[in-house]
Amino acid sequence: MQIVCCVKQVPDTTQVKIDPATNTLVRAGVESICNPYDLVAVEAAVKITEKYGGSVSVITMGIPSAEVQLRECLSLGAHQAILVSDRALAGADTLATSYTLASAIQKLNEIDPVQIVMCGKQAIDGDTAQTGPGIATRLGFTQLTYVSQIIGLDIQKQTITVRREIENASQIIEAKLPVMLTVELELGAARYATLPGLIKAIKHEIKVWGAKELSCTAEKCGLKGSPTSVKTIFAPPPRKGGPVYDTTEGMDQAVNSLLDTLFQKEAAIMSEILSNDSKVKNA
Ligand SMILES: Cc1cc2nc3c(=O)[nH]c(=O)nc-3n(C[C@H](O)[C@H](O)[C@H](O)COP(=O)(O)OP(=O)(O)OC[C@H]3O[C@@H](n4cnc5c(N)ncnc54)[C@H](O)[C@@H]3O)c2cc1C
Repeated sequence: MQIVCCVKQVPDTTQVKIDPATNTLVRAGVESICNPYDLVAVEAAVKITEKYGGSVSVITMGIPSAEVQLRECLSLGAHQAILVSDRALAGADTLATSYTLASAIQKLNEIDPVQIVMCGKQAIDGDTAQTGPGIATRLGFTQLTYVSQIIGLDIQKQTITVRREIENASQIIEAKLPVMLTVELELGAARYATLPGLIKAIKHEIKVWGAKELSCTAEKCGLKGSPTSVKTIFAPPPRKGGPVYDTTEGMDQAVNSLLDTLFQKEAAIMSEILSNDSKVKNA
């Protein structure tokens, strides 16, 4: 059984800046990290293989420096890593990204059957949460999104049972393999790399695949295969601070002012009702 984890190199969001002239993210000089949700997926995948056997392949589509994030995943227990990188793939929107990643997973599947694909719930930069479902649709895999717990895997029945988060509730679902999961942070934090893990990661050969190796249709890749156009991108204005209640003059005064603020509207309505009431009585 092969599990494929899709991992994305993202800028460390605490440092993200937007170039107001070009409406693009300023990536120069910004540290890159592995999308946090994707590390959670790698940890879950490694745990599955520790329990049930099989291997974990990590795959990223990105620039050559994304190799660093792949090596991080190898140090955490992934067995092989593939960097999908090619100028022909640049400028991809989520449609082209999921097409290209699905083509790479298809190639891995020809070597060793892929039973589970794992993606993060979302990338912390692009944030669309579209890539995972796009991959599942192209591969014809069942998709289980927002997974917060892997309850069990039945290798004989070829099923997986997971808990997934929905608005104000959780669902427990059993599905037939092969599946694509998008994972929540609650699934569990990644382990710390061990020294042997780090050494293995440094020495490991990373496969690099381009559009040719993936036999991709040129019209479906990169800018050519991307119908989305970004009209504008902007940072929301910083929030103004809320009211401050000074307790130096005494706690009671501060609490009274807070209650006044909270119930200002209600107090106005009440006084209007009372004044109407007294007008009726006096009439
Ligand atoms: C017109 C257009 C042009 C763009 N041009 C560029 C560009 O030139 N360079 C650029 O970096 N971005 C570019 N982008 C952004 C890029 O399309 C998205 O970052 C990408 O498609 C993934 O979408 P997302 O970030 O919303 O990820 P989501 O869909 O939120 O990600 C969910 C999960 O999918 C997986 N995933 C997502 N992306 C990858 C990946 N690349 N490799 C492996 N796994 C992945 C991860 O598991 C991730 O947790 C462009 C977008 C548009 C609309």
